[in-house]
Amino acid sequence: MPIVDGNALAGPLASVLGADATLAVLRCAGCGTADPLALTRVYRTPMGSVARCRGCDTVLVTVVDAGDRRWVGLPGTRAVATSDT
Ligand SMILES: [Zn+2]
Repeated sequence: MPIVDGNALAGPLASVLGADATLAVLRCAGCGTADPLALTRVYRTPMGSVARCRGCDTVLVTVVDAGDRRWVGLPGTRAVATSDT
């Protein structure tokens, strides 16, 4: 099995997130629901945002702005898929 660096994932990740990330489908690790990012409930604070599953309230996505970097976490997301549309 060849081992390459993370550049190999640029295409697959771009195809999943696409030009409109809100269409990406997130599978919740808490309840298994698979819905587009656009359907999550997002709570915003001055430090960043948290997107929660509508089915079970699991934190699916965190976005934190820290100085010159933006950190994105997917703590409760089991997988991300492309939209069916
Ligand atoms: Zn859930």
